Amino acid sequence: MPSTRLTYRRRQSYNTKSNNVRIVKTPGGKLRYLHIRKQGSAPKCGDCGTKLPGIPSLRPREYATISRPKKSVSRSYGGSRCANCVKDRIVRAFLIEEQKIVKKVLKESQQKKR
Ligand SMILES: [Zn+2]
Repeated sequence: MPSTRLTYRRRQSYNTKSNNVRIVKTPGGKLRYLHIRKQGSAPKCGDCGTKLPGIPSLRPREYATISRPKKSVSRSYGGSRCANCVKDRIVRAFLIEEQKIVKKVLKESQQKKR
């Protein structure tokens, strides 16, 4: 019976996050460790923390190598805030502006009365 114990294929000999392995069977029928790269994480919305749809989850270095359109959505705040949060921001800004106008009108009408 062949031994089931395996050894790392690289110099690093500790079971760390960056030294992650999977057991594979080679074409020659032997079991061997296959080193796996760390899994990327998706960019998240800065306001609500949900994963941004339409943007791939990659390792930081991989984002530097892909093109700009793949990293963002064609919308203001495209690569950093989700659609719902952008909508909220627009509505909030609109309401604040409206409130300013209402205040201004009220002030003018009070001055006219006097
Ligand atoms: Zn959000």
